[in-house]
Amino acid sequence: MSLGDDFPLHSYTTEHDFIATLNSAFQSLSFNNTTTTTNSNPHVLSEPKPKSKSKSKKRSDPHHNSDENDQCGHPEIQDNKCINCKKKLLDDNFGVSFSYVRKGLRFSHKEIARLRDLQSHEKLKHKKLVLVLDLDQTLIHVTTSSKTKQSQTSSSGNDHFTLNSLQKTVKLRPFVRPFLKEASTMFEFYIYTTADKAYALEMTRLLDPENVYFGTRIISRDDSPRSDQKSLDLVLAPERMVLVLDDTEDVWLNHRPNLVSIERYTYFGSYSITDESETEGALVKSLRVLKLVHGLFFHKKLEVGFVQRDVRVILRMLRGEVLKGCNVFISNLDSRVCVMAEELGAMRAMELEESVTHVVSLVVGSEECLWAEREKRFLVHPRWIEAAYYLFERMPEQDFPISLKKFSNGCELENSFVCPRLVFVLFLIEVEATNCGLLKESLAVNWCMSCCFLRRLLSICHLSMKSFQKQFIGSERTRAPSQFNSAHGKFANI
Ligand SMILES: [Mg+2]
Ligand SMILES: [Zn+2]
Repeated sequence: MSLGDDFPLHSYTTEHDFIATLNSAFQSLSFNNTTTTTNSNPHVLSEPKPKSKSKSKKRSDPHHNSDENDQCGHPEIQDNKCINCKKKLLDDNFGVSFSYVRKGLRFSHKEIARLRDLQSHEKLKHKKLVLVLDLDQTLIHVTTSSKTKQSQTSSSGNDHFTLNSLQKTVKLRPFVRPFLKEASTMFEFYIYTTADKAYALEMTRLLDPENVYFGTRIISRDDSPRSDQKSLDLVLAPERMVLVLDDTEDVWLNHRPNLVSIERYTYFGSYSITDESETEGALVKSLRVLKLVHGLFFHKKLEVGFVQRDVRVILRMLRGEVLKGCNVFISNLDSRVCVMAEELGAMRAMELEESVTHVVSLVVGSEECLWAEREKRFLVHPRWIEAAYYLFERMPEQDFPISLKKFSNGCELENSFVCPRLVFVLFLIEVEATNCGLLKESLAVNWCMSCCFLRRLLSICHLSMKSFQKQFIGSERTRAPSQFNSAHGKFANI
């Protein structure tokens, strides 16, 4: 395995150096949840027995929660009866519910710890880690179906389904099947969704018709202690062996260090002209990251034992390499972008000083933009940071411009070709966007953005892009910039 090819590790000259540093990071147990405020347990690297105990206690029941069955001391309860001795359980808050495994099943915390231990040995033996997958907008995009009733489940192609029972139309994300196939050699999967159980089962069936990947490991809102948060307490593996792939960060407040964020997948009602690429789409890139973390976890040259290895440390270190050496000035102080930049290893400048390498801004013509142009520094859209965060890769700055003028450099649409009526429509769109608060600080819309809004406006007016082009532009030449169709074009989506 070579790390350097795919992932520029700026501060390491060789892979060997990186492994050595990783080794000492594991040894020093320096991992702490810098991005997590709610998780204050410092022993995250030890086996999670005491932690999960106290945490699940708090989360699953705020009033009272007994760990062991007072009646008989056995660890497994089914429908309020002890599995071993059939004694009726009087305490409703015993242990933790594992209803996703079997309805009515509860384990004591001690038993959970034991199962985790057992599972981790089993997984290490097979060189496997655990991957928790979100459904909506990570693996699939679903819309409420308004189509006429057909057969029970109709599918067109292999990735498009109409489910009349749920009145939904489902689109699988490009590359999802190869993704599952390949990732399953390195990970045991869980599905974890904030949707309900029936939905979760139905969607999983579409992804995994033969049921080879997920088994009973499908956690829904109905199984989760909290509806707005996802919890690794329900996953039967130590947290240091668990990665999460999800497009929503907010539901993982307690487990952000385990999270590999993926760009949100939108297919229905998308303003993008093309679907994600099968070969260069988000799942392809995520798979690369997962592979890398897996490869590092089981790296032969690591000296520390498996018990000390931690995917969170690996993720943090990899991420911290991406923008190392960059000194970014972020003009609008979008806190999410700032946190991302820091996690990516960038320095953050508070002022426009000599050492600044990048100005991140949305506002064309602002003071910092003028400064960047004058001082010949990179001037990029905040999506440049987001893209790096999702891809674990520093993207070419020129693909993330903030001004119309700059963008049109590389695209087919030249200012002189723009029909006055189009300009007027774009103006309306800008006003609409501003009214909607979509463009918080700026009226300056680059062509890509305009194109997004334009498509939305057209859909409101029931106009197709084609008829719009015919009516207003009248020329094949004035198409959306070629860049919009390129691999990076997807970042132009709002
Ligand atoms: Mg989602
Ligand atoms: Zn018993």
